[in-house]
Amino acid sequence: MSATIISGNLIASKFREELKQRVKLLSETWMQPGLAVILVGDNPASCVYVRNKAKTCDELGIHSEVFNLPGDTSQKALLRQIQDLNANPEIHGILVQLPLPDHIRIDEVIAAIATEKDVDGFHPCNVGALATGHALFHPCTPLGVMKMLSEHAIPLQGQHAVVVGRSNIVGKPMALMLLEKGATVTICTSRTRDLASHTLSADIVVMATGKSNLLTADMIKPGATVIDVGINRLPDGRLCGDVEFTGVKEKAGYITPVPGGVGPMTIVMLMNNTIEAAERAKAAAQAVAGCGSMQ
Ligand code: NDP
Repeated sequence: MSATIISGNLIASKFREELKQRVKLLSETWMQPGLAVILVGDNPASCVYVRNKAKTCDELGIHSEVFNLPGDTSQKALLRQIQDLNANPEIHGILVQLPLPDHIRIDEVIAAIATEKDVDGFHPCNVGALATGHALFHPCTPLGVMKMLSEHAIPLQGQHAVVVGRSNIVGKPMALMLLEKGATVTICTSRTRDLASHTLSADIVVMATGKSNLLTADMIKPGATVIDVGINRLPDGRLCGDVEFTGVKEKAGYITPVPGGVGPMTIVMLMNNTIEAAERAKAAAQAVAGCGSMQ
């Protein structure tokens, strides 16, 4: 029997309605949530991602500012830009579009973002908080995957989840979030011997490698949930994931497509984190105002 398709497009559009209501409430009772996106250079894929983020902000009523900095921007100038945004009360979320040019020290840049505005969840303090189960912001892509799993009521507790990929933005936080929900988690990498021996015992497989068609039907057990984070461009220009979709969907229980799977969820989770940052800023401002009136 063919797998149930987990449609990111469908879940994301449902979630967007909820986000619109939260933005409306904030705008009517306090101020518009604000997101700043910094792009250094003109990487074509990054330009598309940044345009999409600004467009989604517009659609939801979130104030957005895009800073297109030249590719030869110095480390110092970039840090100054982040400091300005850290101090800007109209901006609740700051995102630095990755990758950055080679001369920029990425760790230093991410560490410069105020933790309460780090809507990507990449700041080392937020990564540590996630590892201890007290995340301020969950990184957007794995958070989107968790929403997709919960939307379909896919059980996690006691299930064996195999995450293939160990990047800081997808694989590692994904593994931590599944662990937090009680799954037994295995992380595989390019150095893993016999990948199939791990994926074959998995109830849930999350693929985040950037290698097209790496996971094939003979590598999963019948009924497994298969989440495909990969976005790869084929020589003919079409997009595909890390999963050989046609074969795997005949054996899996649930599967995400590419495109239309995890991708649309990622951007909606970025909006969610920005609204959450604004909601916290509002609560903090009201607490200060409350203290003032008691004096
Ligand atoms: P990275 O290149 O940073 O990491 C890839 C990971 O995959 C590495 O840990 C690597 O192992 C592992 N890997 C590579 N080949 C194999 C293999 N043959 N077997 C097992 N593991 C392997 O990529 P990202 O995590 O940034 O992104 C992964 C994919 O997800 C990409 O296609 C990217 O475009 C996509 N993506 C999609 C998003 C979305 O919204 N849908 C958001 C972000 C990313 P090792 O560490 O040993 O090198």
